[in-house]
Amino acid sequence: MMIKNSTKTSHLLFERAQASIPGGVNSPVRAFKSVGGTPVFFKEARGAYLYDEDGNRYIDLIASWGPMILGHSHPAVVEAVARQVHKATSFGAPTRLEIEMAELMKEMVPGLELVRMVNSGTEACMSALRLARGYTGKNKFIKFEGCYHGHADPFLVKAGSGVATFDIQSVPGVTGGTAHDTLTAPYNDIEAVQKLIDQNPGDIAAIIVEPVAGNMGCVPPQPGFLEKLRVICDRYGIILIFDEVMTGFRLAQGGAQERLGVKADLVTFGKVIGGGLPVGAFGGNRDIMSAIAPLGKVYQAGTLSGNPLAMTAGYTTLSILHNNPQIYSELDHKTQLLEQKLSEVLSANGWHFTSNRLGSMLSFHFDIDQVTNFSEAAAANQNTFRRFFHHMLSQGVYLPPSAFESYFLSNALTFEDIDFIAEAASTFTA
Ligand SMILES: *Cc1c(COP(=O)(O)O)cnc(C)c1O
Repeated sequence: MMIKNSTKTSHLLFERAQASIPGGVNSPVRAFKSVGGTPVFFKEARGAYLYDEDGNRYIDLIASWGPMILGHSHPAVVEAVARQVHKATSFGAPTRLEIEMAELMKEMVPGLELVRMVNSGTEACMSALRLARGYTGKNKFIKFEGCYHGHADPFLVKAGSGVATFDIQSVPGVTGGTAHDTLTAPYNDIEAVQKLIDQNPGDIAAIIVEPVAGNMGCVPPQPGFLEKLRVICDRYGIILIFDEVMTGFRLAQGGAQERLGVKADLVTFGKVIGGGLPVGAFGGNRDIMSAIAPLGKVYQAGTLSGNPLAMTAGYTTLSILHNNPQIYSELDHKTQLLEQKLSEVLSANGWHFTSNRLGSMLSFHFDIDQVTNFSEAAAANQNTFRRFFHHMLSQGVYLPPSAFESYFLSNALTFEDIDFIAEAASTFTA
């Protein structure tokens, strides 16, 4: 099957978009700059399928970068949101929905005692860092090269995702003062972390980490890495922040904390938690979270935070995951099968690559033997990735349009879909 007409329609829309939206997009990676060509403009989505403006179907392997873990337009989510929209879309005042959401999260996530809702993963990470700084009275923090924690100023130093895709080394508009307080270490490198702590004694408020990195492709933690971060944070009184915006409610009900058995002090959420609407959250134990206003002096707020529509979509999605824990083993099985089948056909065609997977996060990196950190991810063959991306797109398979992004599966994906994807990849030849 070849995609028909999409290039022409998308081209017209992209031209028009660029006249009124910077670069034609509202988030940079969507512009296809790193893979070249014209972004596809979508109109509808159901289950594991996306439909473009011409009605062409694509199997979706990004699931809106994670949120659509149950598939698009899940009937229960659509129905709940439709019911809520007739009641009220925003109060700017407390609701029962917010309590139910917080209670459900506490049931699912280990160690969560108090949780504050926000509107994006960016806000969640920005607020968690401010809280860690306010609570400890220290300024500096450690992040890892190739990890992405949203676009707040302090995180835009050696960041992953779009920042890596566009090879932006330092971001204009982020002051030297801000960047000065951001210390970076290679992912999976515990010695580099120890060195930064030795060089900045008593100055470090927090270590923030993607417990499974997903913004330089998928890069799982090496055995012991997260455990050692936990030990170091306890020894030096540093707040350990797990950025579970990607991994939360995806790798397990309790996210990476549950799946990998390591506990953080603060956890940030986004993506799955909104079930396709704009939601983020951060939380932790009562002691640290009590430093947040109105209990404490660390200020944090939001006009639309806890928005009824967003809470309804998120609560419905989390409830389904909570009541159907087999979804996680099904997703694991499907992703493992996809990795295996894609590996078989790529190998059969003589491609040299490595794949990384944890749960329903997966990525392929060409012409490299292992990817355990950002410099290895960046050394992979981007040219082959670009060709692979466009080959799959022309066959009706929508991969993330950057080598620095992970695939995210939805449980709407069927075994027939997996065969279809493998079949599409089997015609990718040198
Ligand atoms: C997507 C992402 C963010 C940012 O979330 P937004 O909702 O895009 O602001 C932060 N951290 C991680 C790990 C992410 O994957």
